[in-house]
Amino acid sequence: LGDPGIEQLDAVDVGVAWPVPGPEDNKYSQGVTGIAAGSATYPGAAVLATGSAVLATSGMVRYAGPAADVVRSRWPEVVATGSVTDAGRVQAWVVGPGIGTGQSGRRVLEHVLSAGVPVCADADATTLMAHQPDVLDARDPGTPLVLTPHAGEFERLTGAPPGADRVGAVKAAARRFDAVVLLKGNTTLVAAPDGRVLANVARGSWLATAGSGDLLSGLVGALLAAGLDPWLAAGAAAYVHSLAADLAARGVPVSASGVLSAIPDAIRSLRSYQ
Ligand code: AMP
Ligand code: MG
Repeated sequence: LGDPGIEQLDAVDVGVAWPVPGPEDNKYSQGVTGIAAGSATYPGAAVLATGSAVLATSGMVRYAGPAADVVRSRWPEVVATGSVTDAGRVQAWVVGPGIGTGQSGRRVLEHVLSAGVPVCADADATTLMAHQPDVLDARDPGTPLVLTPHAGEFERLTGAPPGADRVGAVKAAARRFDAVVLLKGNTTLVAAPDGRVLANVARGSWLATAGSGDLLSGLVGALLAAGLDPWLAAGAAAYVHSLAADLAARGVPVSASGVLSAIPDAIRSLRSYQ
């Protein structure tokens, strides 16, 4: 920040970019988001990531994974299956929250990376990439990838903590992985491989709570599925994420479920700028 090369999205930018259906739209043109998240141990990650994708747009969300029953009972509009191989067609995948870093997680990650659609890889997906870099060989060349590490995941992925020069670190990671890299924090940075960088300064610190990152990945996935440029998708998702937290909290701590419920309010507040 203070660096003229670092952009900041405002409410107008995000409001204009956000995919709101028009008369010619249908659920497919709004975007079909696939969510590969959660496990028997962590069904909540699946519920939160799926829910934020549902509330971000009115297209369709497909869930694939071991939490299908829990997701179905919480989100009846979601098409849920037990495995990514049975998921059907999606226009973007979110992969990682709560999937674990074992063999089944690796297979899921390989499947979505080779699907030929944009991917938002978060949490255990970034850890798998760190520990088993050859998993990236499965990536379909030319399909956008968005990585959303927190500082610890960033350190695992790149071998070094973000350090004092967070902008330099996130830019280098974007080039190295040929991916949009969103480095989480109170100021979230989003770098593209072509050198674009934006900063999203949080309105408060209400997102410092379990499950909030799962919400962000669902928002990014929904915007990728709607066809947004991946750098803009990540930046707009970060903007609405922190706005929803601010609206939900109103001065007192709020859970990730509370932030999730405020996503429609955050999007509604942007509509006046369109
Ligand atoms: P995760 O660590 O994956 O659960 O993600 C946490 C989310 O909350 C990210 O979007 C962070 O940017 C955000 N976050 C965490 N701590 C803070 C904080 N102190 N202030 C603002 N945002 C935060
Ligand atoms: Mg996380």
